[in-house]
Parts: sequence; structure tokens; C-alpha cells
Amino acid sequence: MTDKFYITTPIYYVNDKPHVGSAYPTVAADVLARFYRYSGTPTFFLTGTAEHGTKILQSAEKAEQNVEEFVRENSAKFSLTWGILGVAPDDFIRTTESRHEAAVISFFEKLKTSGKIYEGQYEGLYCVGHEAFLKPEDLNAEGKCPDHATRPELVKEQNWFFKLSDYADLLKQKISSNEFVIEPETRRNEILSFLNQGLEDITISRQHVKWAIPLPWDKKQTIYVWLDELFNYCSALGYPDGEKYKQYWPADLHIVGKDIIKFHCVIWPALLEAAGLPWPKKVFAHGFFTIDGQKISKSLGNAIDPVELAEKYGTDAVRYFLLREIPFGQDGDFSVKKLEARYEGDLANGLGNLFSRLTTLIAQNLDGEIGEKKASPREFDEVNVMIQNLRFHEALARIWEEIAWANKYIDDTKPWETAKTDVKLFTEVIDNLAALLYEIAKKLAPFMPETAETIRSALSAERIVKAEPLFPRLK
Ligand SMILES: [Zn+2]
Repeated sequence: MTDKFYITTPIYYVNDKPHVGSAYPTVAADVLARFYRYSGTPTFFLTGTAEHGTKILQSAEKAEQNVEEFVRENSAKFSLTWGILGVAPDDFIRTTESRHEAAVISFFEKLKTSGKIYEGQYEGLYCVGHEAFLKPEDLNAEGKCPDHATRPELVKEQNWFFKLSDYADLLKQKISSNEFVIEPETRRNEILSFLNQGLEDITISRQHVKWAIPLPWDKKQTIYVWLDELFNYCSALGYPDGEKYKQYWPADLHIVGKDIIKFHCVIWPALLEAAGLPWPKKVFAHGFFTIDGQKISKSLGNAIDPVELAEKYGTDAVRYFLLREIPFGQDGDFSVKKLEARYEGDLANGLGNLFSRLTTLIAQNLDGEIGEKKASPREFDEVNVMIQNLRFHEALARIWEEIAWANKYIDDTKPWETAKTDVKLFTEVIDNLAALLYEIAKKLAPFMPETAETIRSALSAERIVKAEPLFPRLK
């Protein structure tokens, strides 16, 4: 274990609504944060929203809203959604907050003294959807951005540059030696082969983007929004002098989408290096969902609202499904049909049934009273290591082996019979089951906090009663 744990999610663009694709890394980060918190490690979990850039300004105009109001309202949708999904961050950063803007300005002033910043002419194809320059080879046959189906603008302007090209060797060395960890392996290899091609310098400012933070030494320019956004990980901690910054930086883990790894695994550490700040320890890139086999897209309108899912199936069932179905780090397909199959199978018939059988046996035969809690008859501590390694689906599968074992143990030992014929054996079986279920709840708590609490408090009651179904049958 570590002496502290600082974990972040990507910050989400406020012109998108929260959907299962953004809920996925956020729930994963929450599971890790809870895991470390429960183990007694000082933990800081950050999420938030990215609120600058032309795309957002245009969305606000389209919505006929003042931009400040637009970003505030849309940011609130994210914090509300995360709350409904049981996500409990220690802080929620918005890049339009003054604490963030002040920290970014202070960071850029420091960067300016590094000798790695210079002025130059930039010409490039700017995609507003990406808020980034594209290369001619990134475009489709019609000369459009393949992701946004729009023609990028040819932008020619005076900009400030960062000498990113100076950092290729250092990046390669720290990534190869795992001093800076990139997972999964496929993403690490992707970054290493990108570095092997050599790095070009990047622009750090824009003249034509108005809704952004002014560059402190050249007020005609604004700071490139991507760089302003990356700095949220430090600004939220109170960079440069905050106590939290001193305690928690560098980040132990940035969870990001696989589409933004160049920003997090190349540009971000190089900027930190130039400013003399420590690098994050690890970046983990999660995969993407398709929905019923199709890419999530605004035009298809197939984005699934996680709040609707939580209302129908319960918060913990959604959390369980998100992390059980697809190995974290790989792509996979999301479908309501699969969610319902896991709900019926794993949750209602598995864990729910075990809890209901045990509490019924105790209520009917022991007057609701069991003895002192014993040690669990089964050990499955490898679950902890799986969680630490972000192998959530394996951790859950391992816990469910124990649930299956316990249900079979009931079938085999027939406690409803021994309750009448062999009270000693009956009591032993019940004590074993109670201890095991208690341990299962403990291991499950980071994933399914409400369910774990329901089980633990039911089993700790002075008089245990026949429990209500944990996962009622779907209608
Ligand atoms: Zn684009």
C-alpha cells in the first residue's frame, strides 16, 4: 500500500451530457478511492468539468444562454449524476473557477522562465470539435474531420510554442523503466512507438479562441484549452502553496480515455518537467463502449442516461454491471439486455438469494440471534490486489465464486433440516455463512457501498429479521 492515494478522472466537457461512457471511468475511480479510504490510506479523489473553448461558446450561443450560465448549469448535471451513481469525490473542479484560473496563470508564468517557450508562426488545420489542430493525414477523403464530419479551418497566426521536442528521450526512458507507468500494455506501446517517431513542438496559446484563460505575458492570446484543462489535477489541490497540493501531488493515478493518452502521457509530463514539478506516477487508459454494437454518438442519439438506469435497476446494480461486464482497459459492448441478465443472474439469484436464505434461516430457527462473529471460513484476499491493479471484473468474478460457494454450501448442508435434527451442526453452518457473507460485504463495499452496508447492518443487528429482497425482480 502507499502512504497516500491521489486519483483523478478526466474532466468532462460541459457541452456533453453525462452518459454511460463518462460514468464508466468515474465509477471506476470511485471504487478505487473507496478501496483506499476503507483501508485507511489518506485518499483524494478528483473529478470535474472542462468549460473553456470555442466549442462551448458556440454551444452556449446555440442554447441562447449566457456562457457562464450555460457552463454552470451543465456542470451541475455532472455532479448531480455522479451523486446518483454513488460517486463521492473529495473535490469537483470546474476550469472556469477563479482558483483554477489563478493556478494556471501561476503555472504558465513558471513555465515561461523554463527557457522552453518561444514565439513563432503557426499554420494549421483547426477542428473546433476537437479543440485541436489536425494533420492532413487525419482527415477523410472529403477533407473533413472523421470524428466531427466538419471541415477544419485553416488557421494562420502568431503563437507561443513549447519545446516538446526536447523531451522525447526523457519520456522514453521514464516510460521504458516504468518510473512513469502507462497501462494497459497496448497503450504503453502506442506511446513508445509515437515517441520513436520524434516529437514536434506544440503551440500553447491561441489568438482566435476567446473563451479561455488569457496568457499572462501576452494578453492578445489565450492559453490553449487542453493545457489549461490538464492543469486541473494540480489546481484543485491548491497549487502552488496549498496543503493538499503538498500532501497529494504527484497523482498516483490518472484514469483517462484511450483517445487522450498523448495529452496525458507525453505533453502533460513534459510540461511538468519543464516547470520542475513531479510527474504523475501512473496513467491508465480505459476502453470505450459501444451501445448494442454501435458507437455512442449524438447523431444516433444512442447515449444512455445513467440516471435512468440507476432509477430502474438501482445504483449498485449499475455500478456492478459497468465494472463486471468488460475488463477495464478494453473496449466492450454495453446493452440493457446484458445488464438485465447480470441483474437476474448474479445479483438477484446470486447475492440477493444468499442474503435472503441466510436471514430467513436465522429469523425462523434462531429467533434472529446468532453468536459472536467468527473468522470467515474462506479466504479471498487476492481480491484486494485485483482492485489495486484495476482488474475490477476479476475481483468481482472472484467475489461471486464465494457467493456461489455459499449458496451451494446451503444446498449441501440442508440447514432447514438440521435445524430440527442437529442443532450443533445447524449453528456451525449458520455461523460460517454469516462470517463469509460479512466478508463478502466487506470486499464488495467499494463497488456496491449501499448493498454492503445493508448486509453488514442486517448481520450485525441484535435480532436478525428476514430481509427484504436486495434486488427485487424486474417488472
Ligand atoms: Zn474533429
